[in-house]
Amino acid sequence: MRNPIIGGNWKMNKGTPSEAIEMLEELISLVKKIDSVDIVIVPPFTVLFSAIQTVKNTNIMVGAQNMYYEEKGAFTGEVSPVFLKELGCKYVILGHSERRDIFNESDDLINKKLKKALKAGLNPIVCIGEHLEERETGRTKDVIENQFKLTFKDLKSEELDRVTIAYEPIWAIGTGKTATPEQAEEIHIFIRELIATIYGKNTAETVRIQYGGSIKPTNAKEIFKKENIDGGLVGGASLQSKSLYEIIKAAEESVNQ
Ligand code: PEP
Repeated sequence: MRNPIIGGNWKMNKGTPSEAIEMLEELISLVKKIDSVDIVIVPPFTVLFSAIQTVKNTNIMVGAQNMYYEEKGAFTGEVSPVFLKELGCKYVILGHSERRDIFNESDDLINKKLKKALKAGLNPIVCIGEHLEERETGRTKDVIENQFKLTFKDLKSEELDRVTIAYEPIWAIGTGKTATPEQAEEIHIFIRELIATIYGKNTAETVRIQYGGSIKPTNAKEIFKKENIDGGLVGGASLQSKSLYEIIKAAEESVNQ
């Protein structure tokens, strides 16, 4: 039994304390009765502290959007996993396609970050996904397999248990185009089989694989109904408390279906 996880990735939005706190206060009252979904808000670094203070003693957790793989030192502009953990972050997103494509993050770099996030006691949400051109030329599964093997290189199965994988087809992120539930489920099954081959059946059954890419209140229910989809990573629709709440409710309903 895997509890769904909904991540709200605010990206570079709501980065001032007043707007972050306002949104979180609305969300806290909306989700207070939700108990079978892990809710993780992932705001910009500038409001992590305010967010963590605001959600104290609620059912909302806070994550960071990125980190570096060193603990401290001369790395101007970077943030250490140890700082994030001490601050009260529970999760960290790694390898988001915007990090990979805009900031040239490689699988090797993400692999280093992943190991250090786990060492620091953070729960990583690791994103993998194909570009449109890769899907259209029939290479989706090869791309996913390659990304998975490089990103998770040398990880032990007990470490993988603490990881959430976000399957995010890049052509569906921020574009309004969503993978159909069937397209998403096909790749989630493929990833689960890959995990079973490398780490064994038990690990494959335990690891949560969430979908990301233009999830909205109108499509969330159908996506979360799929057996291998354990919630979602939500960008645009996580910026309004009402739409995020509806998506969280859809995830909760998928548990009771
Ligand atoms: C994301 O940022 O991971 C994402 C899926 O964004 P959106 O929901 O806006 O497509």
